[in-house]
Amino acid sequence: MALTFYNSLTRNKDEFRPVVPGHVGIYMCGPTVYSEPHLGHARGPVVFDVLRRWLEHEGYRVRFVSNVTDVGHLSDVEEGEDKLAKRAQLERLEPMEVAEKYFWSYFDAMARLRVRRPDVVPRASGHIIEQIELTRALLDGGVAYVKDGNVYFDVSAYQPYGELSGRDPEELLEGTRVEVRSDKDDPRDFALWKKAEEGHIMRWPSPWGEGFPGWHLECSVMSTKYLGDEFDIHGGGLDLIFPHHECEIAQARAAGKPFARVWLHWNMITLEGEKMAKSKNHFVTLAQLFERYDPVAVRFHLLRSHYRSVSDFSDDSLTASAQGLRRLRETYRLVSEGAGETAEPGAFEAARAAFAEAMNDDLNTPQALAVLFDAARDINRALEAGASPAYRAAARALFDELLDGVLGVPPTADALGQSHDLLDGLVGMLLEERQRARARRDFATADAMRARLEELGIEVEDTAEGSRWKLG
Ligand SMILES: [Zn+2]
Repeated sequence: MALTFYNSLTRNKDEFRPVVPGHVGIYMCGPTVYSEPHLGHARGPVVFDVLRRWLEHEGYRVRFVSNVTDVGHLSDVEEGEDKLAKRAQLERLEPMEVAEKYFWSYFDAMARLRVRRPDVVPRASGHIIEQIELTRALLDGGVAYVKDGNVYFDVSAYQPYGELSGRDPEELLEGTRVEVRSDKDDPRDFALWKKAEEGHIMRWPSPWGEGFPGWHLECSVMSTKYLGDEFDIHGGGLDLIFPHHECEIAQARAAGKPFARVWLHWNMITLEGEKMAKSKNHFVTLAQLFERYDPVAVRFHLLRSHYRSVSDFSDDSLTASAQGLRRLRETYRLVSEGAGETAEPGAFEAARAAFAEAMNDDLNTPQALAVLFDAARDINRALEAGASPAYRAAARALFDELLDGVLGVPPTADALGQSHDLLDGLVGMLLEERQRARARRDFATADAMRARLEELGIEVEDTAEGSRWKLG
C-alpha cells in the first residue's frame, strides 16, 4: 500500500506526494507557553514524532518545524487581557520570563516522552517583522483594512474562506465570538494586527501604531519562512480547524502562497471518559502523570489509539498499556539472550510488511502495535522450542527497528521505567496481602496496611474488581 493520509482539506484519504520528491516539510502548531504542560499537550507531538520517524524510515528527508506562541493567544483573550500578560501579573514576572520558564517545562516533558526536538522551533516574538510584512502585503492586495490601529482581514474579499472547515457563511458567523466593542466591517473578519491598549505589556511598533500580531498570523508566516510558500504537511488538534487553520489558509493564499497540501488533525484526549477542563480541575499536568506512570508507557498508551480517534486516559487503561509494554520488553529481553552476530535472512518479512501496511494507512499505530504483539507471540513460541542464535538476532533487530526506531518506544526500560515497574510490583504485592487479610476478616491488619501506604503517599481505593492505587 502506498503512503496515504486522511487530508482534512480534501476530506479524503489521499496518496501522499511530496512537493519536492524525497523531501517532506512539516509544520505543527505548537503550544502557548504560559502554564505547565498538561496531558492535552502530549498527543500531537507524539503523533508527529512517529510521523517524522516513519517518513525517515521510508527514506525521506524531513524538516520538522513546530512553533511556540509566546505573544499570547488572542482568540483566548479573557476580559481583554492577553493570557501571557495576565499570568505575568499574577507571578510578578516579565512575560518573557514566563514564556521562557514554560518553554523549557514543555520541552523537558517532551524529551521524557521521547519526542525528538523539532528541526526549527520558531517563536512568534522573534518573527514580528515578518508578520508586519505579511500584513502589509494583504493590505496592498486589498484583502485587509485598517481601523484605528487595528488591521483586519476582509473575509468577503477572499471567496474560498471556509474551505477547510466546510462551514457556510451562516455557520461562520455563529462561530465568531460575540464582541461588545468591535469596529470590524463584518463579524467574520479577524485581526492581523491589534492595537495595544494602555497597560498592554507586549507591544511592538508598526506602521499602524504600537501593537501586537493576531495569533493566526504567526503560523502562516513561520511555516512558509522555513518550509517554502508551498509545503507538504500541516498539523494541529481538531479544535484548531476553525478558526485558527481556516484563517492561516486565508492569510497565506490571499497573499499568493499555495500553502500546505495535506492537513492532519488529531483528536482530543479524555480523562476517565470525560473531556479535560482546567476550569473544573478535571485535567492532569504531565509532571503529575509522570509521577505515577513511566513516560514511555504514556507514549505507548497514546499510540494504542489511532490519532483521529479519541484517546482516553484512565488508571485501568494506562495500567493495561504499561503491562502490554512490559510483555513486549520481556520478549525482547528473552530473545536478546544468546542472540547471534548475524540475523537469519528473510525472517519476519511478513511482519515488516504488515507493519508498513498499517503505518501507510494513515498512520494506523494501533494496528502496527498489534503486528508487534503478534510477532512477540510467535517469538515466545519459537523460544520455547529452542530458537537459534540467528533467529534471535533477527527478532531483536525487528524490535530495534520498528518498536524503538519507528514508534520511539525503547525495548528496554531505563532506570526510571524500572523503578516504575518495581513500584507497581511491590504495591501490587502488598495489596494482594491486604486482600488476603480482608478475606479472612482480619480488618485490623487490612486497615493498618492501608494507613501505612497512605503515609507513604499511596492512596488505596477498594472497588468491586479489587483494590486500586494511585499516588496521592
Ligand atoms: Zn498555528
